[in-house]
Amino acid sequence: MSDPEATGIDALPLRPELRGVEPYGAPQIDVPVRLNTNENPYPPDAAAVAELTEAVASAAGALNRYPDREAWQLRTGLADYLGHGRRPEQVWAANGSNEVMLQLLQAFGGPGRTVCSFAPTYSMYPEYARDSHTRWVAGHRAEDFTLDLEHAVRLVRSEGPSVVLLTSPNNPTGTALPLEHIEAVHDAAAGAVVVVDEAYAEFRRAGTLSALSLLEGRPRLVVTRTMSKAFALAGARLGYLSADEAVVDALRVVRLPYHLSSLTQAAACAALRHADSLLAQVDTLRAERDLTVSTLRGLGLEVAESDANFVLFGQFADRHAIWQALVDHGVLIRETGPGGWLRVTIGTAADMETFASALESVLDTTSKELTR
Ligand SMILES: *Cc1c(COP(=O)(O)O)cnc(C)c1O
Repeated sequence: MSDPEATGIDALPLRPELRGVEPYGAPQIDVPVRLNTNENPYPPDAAAVAELTEAVASAAGALNRYPDREAWQLRTGLADYLGHGRRPEQVWAANGSNEVMLQLLQAFGGPGRTVCSFAPTYSMYPEYARDSHTRWVAGHRAEDFTLDLEHAVRLVRSEGPSVVLLTSPNNPTGTALPLEHIEAVHDAAAGAVVVVDEAYAEFRRAGTLSALSLLEGRPRLVVTRTMSKAFALAGARLGYLSADEAVVDALRVVRLPYHLSSLTQAAACAALRHADSLLAQVDTLRAERDLTVSTLRGLGLEVAESDANFVLFGQFADRHAIWQALVDHGVLIRETGPGGWLRVTIGTAADMETFASALESVLDTTSKELTR
């Protein structure tokens, strides 16, 4: 099993599929403008910080006790926030929607089972599949990154997954799904739990609908959300879902005991009381997103339609060279998604001006180099 000469990680009985695998992480470089991890660029305002601090301080006085393992107060607040008649029994919360998603695969995936999704999509999904020993099958998307519905329906029918992951708006493309597509995939995936990852839901454009309205009467449908993006609370690690009560009951079986600390629960409850102020910049970011799309198109680039707080643009023969040149201008974006494309997170107006002028000068020099 192990080589007697080996040292370090090679001497350990690591699962073979984990050998040589690098931990997930966007490269973090210390530059003035960081537009690479889809965070909200606006920190919580002073009133929200004060209330969060007070809530955490009060929870700290009871840290000798384990937290409420049902996170009932928080789930009640989240149900209120979601609306659509959602009840706390139909809501579940964990440390980021990443943990929610892993719990879903622990409960509904597993050895001998399949999870299907449609690429390009969130790079963490295959990792949850690996970590839960679930077979990962990625179909493709249409040229414009929408679902190729015929292909999607055919794939879920032929693969018979126990979990289907749909992402709307999708990361890294920004593409939202029409509700009819979600319904069609749900109906084709007989017996499967169909998860709609709505991490970016609050940023969607007018007229784009949330799958929350589909939950009633569909006990296999799940909608996941997070406080990491629109809520400007990435550091708090709070993700959640809404689904039928039976789905929540299944997750309560696989969750770690007391998985959600009382500090997190207190902070998230306080954040919900300040939802209006925490979400106050969402409209600014949506407007800045639309402006970024038109600026990039004005530079002659291809830009994917976006309902999120980021924009995918291209196509570059050497995207790494563009990414690096932007870093040299003090702007960090993300080299992700299909080859030839780059993703920029929407920052403040000043961030986006710096990004746009840096990109313009980078494109200027690179096209000169190409024509030289
Ligand atoms: C950022 C993101 C999440 C959020 O993850 P958290 O663990 O809640 O921070 C979930 N899904 C997608 C597609 C994302 O891009």
